Amino acid sequence: MPQIVIRHDREKPVIQQHPWIFSGAIQEVRGDPAPGDIVDVVSTKGRFLARGYWNQKSQIQVRILTWQDEPINDDWWRRMMQQAIVARSSGLPSNMPDKMAKRLINAESDWLPGLVVDRYADFLVLQALTLGIDRRKHDIARLLHELMPEVKGIYERSDVDVRGKEGLKPQSGLLWGDEPPEYIEIQESGSKFLVDVRKGHKTGFYLDQSANRVIAQNYVEKLNRLFERPLKILNLCSYTGGFAISIINQRIASITCVDASYEVLELAERNAELNLTANNTPELEFLQADVFQLLRDYVDQGEKFDFIICDPPKFAHNAGQVDKAARGYKDLNLHCFKLLNSGGYLMTFSCSGAISTDLFQKIVFGALVDSGRQGQIVEYLSAAPDHPVALTFPEGAYLKGLLTRVM
Ligand code: SAH
Repeated sequence: MPQIVIRHDREKPVIQQHPWIFSGAIQEVRGDPAPGDIVDVVSTKGRFLARGYWNQKSQIQVRILTWQDEPINDDWWRRMMQQAIVARSSGLPSNMPDKMAKRLINAESDWLPGLVVDRYADFLVLQALTLGIDRRKHDIARLLHELMPEVKGIYERSDVDVRGKEGLKPQSGLLWGDEPPEYIEIQESGSKFLVDVRKGHKTGFYLDQSANRVIAQNYVEKLNRLFERPLKILNLCSYTGGFAISIINQRIASITCVDASYEVLELAERNAELNLTANNTPELEFLQADVFQLLRDYVDQGEKFDFIICDPPKFAHNAGQVDKAARGYKDLNLHCFKLLNSGGYLMTFSCSGAISTDLFQKIVFGALVDSGRQGQIVEYLSAAPDHPVALTFPEGAYLKGLLTRVM
């Protein structure tokens, strides 16, 4: 097996189970590994440290699969995938709900670097983020089908920019089995959603926000009991209405979903229709707008809301974009604070990996102070438990949020 010799002073992260080996940490490549081949990672003295897959085209030349001296074969892939899938189902009845939606495999954090697998009812959506996974995706699909024979089809959504860093082109299409329908209906904590796995963002739906949608439900319910009037809700960067639909059947006066994209709002509207109970008639608005401009207009018009969800896209794609992103987050949060009624909540997020939880809290602090309001953090928020973060891979913790209440 080809060997990758690690520079002595760069051994520590490998020993401490970090899954990435950058080109600068490599002293020597022994043998002639082809792109995607399995390689051994060894110390300068020849001691075995780890085993992973190789890609010279990437800055991350090795992604570690195991720190044990064990063969990487079908059995290994099956065992690792099964372990990840079983972790998601514990606590649920053995027959999973038939419209379930969950992340089953979360790449590096499930020790399967580069591989994401999401389940939407009877279908799986697979993302191959690296060359090592891309080369094996058909075998992986076969094993997934073996592990979950009830699955009807496996669709690939590897149309993501990061593949460029691996020398790969975007790719999507059917990997195995039946074509998924145009929309797959899923259920999440009592709400139904239509998911477009072909054209939707990510693999179709923001599964990472599922637990936070439940938290939103709980606090809207609290506010409902506290305030003696139906609530006014603002769902900024709503996508297909995830947060709005989770709370649509509470005592709501109005919900405004705002997104820059018309297509996602169309689906948000359909999702609303799918969930509204017969006697419930809140005022629903689906507004195609730029949130930065819209929030300014709302402040000028003296608009007020009781609960605001602000879930913008990733503003910082790398460390160099942090300052500009921080200004963007501050601007949004400042205007959100100004728009809240006393006692109201702002649920605010950043999905930029380059912005730490600490920094995000500082940005929101700055926004609050500038808004002239007083506020508290009532919950620290992160991605749902089906998006675990390996302790040795803090890079996996990209989503952070705060639920704040203002006076
Ligand atoms: N909260 C959603 C996910 C939001 S993803 C959920 O739970 O499903 C971020 C969304 O922000 C995307 O739908 C994107 O179209 C939208 N967006 C990006 N830039 C925007 C802008 N400047 N104004 C409004 N929406 C924007």
